[in-house]
Amino acid sequence: VSEDLETLVASFEKWLSQHRADFAALESHPAVDVVAAIANTVPALRALYDGGWLRLGWPESVGGLGGSLVQRAAVMEALSAAGYAVPEVLSAVEIVGAMLVRYAPALAAIHLPAALRGDEVWCQGFSEPDAGSDLGSLRTRAVADGDGFIATGQKMWSTFGHAARYCALLARTGDRDSGHRGLTMFWVDLRSPGVTVIPMACASGRSETAEIFLDDVRVPGTRVIGTVGGGWEAVMYLMQFERGAFAWMRQADMLTDLRSLLGRADALDGAADAIGKAYLSIFALRSLAARTVSRLAQGVALGPEISVDKIVLGTTEQLVADTARELLWPGLELDDDTEAGHWREAWAFSRITTIYGGAIEVQRDLVAERLLGLPRGR
Ligand SMILES: Cc1cc2nc3c(=O)[nH]c(=O)nc-3n(C[C@H](O)[C@H](O)[C@H](O)COP(=O)(O)OP(=O)(O)OC[C@H]3O[C@@H](n4cnc5c(N)ncnc54)[C@H](O)[C@@H]3O)c2cc1C
Repeated sequence: VSEDLETLVASFEKWLSQHRADFAALESHPAVDVVAAIANTVPALRALYDGGWLRLGWPESVGGLGGSLVQRAAVMEALSAAGYAVPEVLSAVEIVGAMLVRYAPALAAIHLPAALRGDEVWCQGFSEPDAGSDLGSLRTRAVADGDGFIATGQKMWSTFGHAARYCALLARTGDRDSGHRGLTMFWVDLRSPGVTVIPMACASGRSETAEIFLDDVRVPGTRVIGTVGGGWEAVMYLMQFERGAFAWMRQADMLTDLRSLLGRADALDGAADAIGKAYLSIFALRSLAARTVSRLAQGVALGPEISVDKIVLGTTEQLVADTARELLWPGLELDDDTEAGHWREAWAFSRITTIYGGAIEVQRDLVAERLLGLPRGR
């Protein structure tokens, strides 16, 4: 950590100690209802925004304060180290925001400040019932019509879809068989006529994701992100942040969770060994994510190595949650207290971390073929 970052973190910690009242909702684990949980984080987001912390590392041209993504990452980690959950919606802002800044700066200038302040929630509409790993085969269509497009189709698994006002939507503008070359990214207002959003429950009991149905939805031409036909490039750029930078936020939260287990280690059978292994895994993830965040901050285009971050993120999430499950056995399943509820939800969430953002089996194939040069399987 550079001296500058240490100074930044120290002044953030001082500021945080003077604004604790705004962060009360981040002390306990999020409410089961996602819409309510997101609403609860608005006072904290507003305070972080008004204090300038969330504007760090975003360009001044889109309402940021300039500086580096590394600074924002350090502040998020300090927030987590102080015992607060990083507001969930920031994951979407970090991931989609980076794409907007690069491919649609005019939209970013309007929407990024609103999302950072908690006034707007965003989601990603890429996956479909028959297009997940094979995203290039998606079927939602957007047909040119006057100065805009008419979009029709179905998206699913959109995280926070039912809480969101705007969706980064990947749709086919090319021929049926145009594959990944015929895709375009759009910025869709989910309040447009023809949009229906239906929440989808996850194993945790939380409806974290949603199905989005589009029935002749008009999207103005000014809402194209990047170029017509350039959707694949935009989504691949975004994935670097989904697979890499997001891992930084998660390692910070996992470390805070593991420290709470460590506090009770004396009373838990086999805790030293199990917690030690989980701690090592988080630190491997932390090292990878730190390197990735600093490379992203320098504008380096990441290659297939980003799949390694994604694999380590998923396996670490599961190791940490399994560790808690074993050590708290059978409390994690049976108890009603806040800690058990938190770990129960964390455990259910950890099962999906090897699926969202690209399934782990596909990431392993990418590592085998593109990093290690192994021959393709059948
Ligand atoms: C909680 C959650 C949140 C999500 N959030 C979003 C979101 O916000 N926006 C969005 O657009 N999507 C989102 N997704 C969707 C996610 O990106 C897809 O689920 C994921 O890409 C896998 O696609 P699929 O579900 O269609 O499974 P499939 O692609 O059908 O895969 C099924 C199984 O087959 C394996 N498989 C498939 N192809 C290969 C291959 N080539 N080689 C080896 N194995 C293979 C997979 O690894 C997997 O085990 C989310 C998913 C979840 C679970």
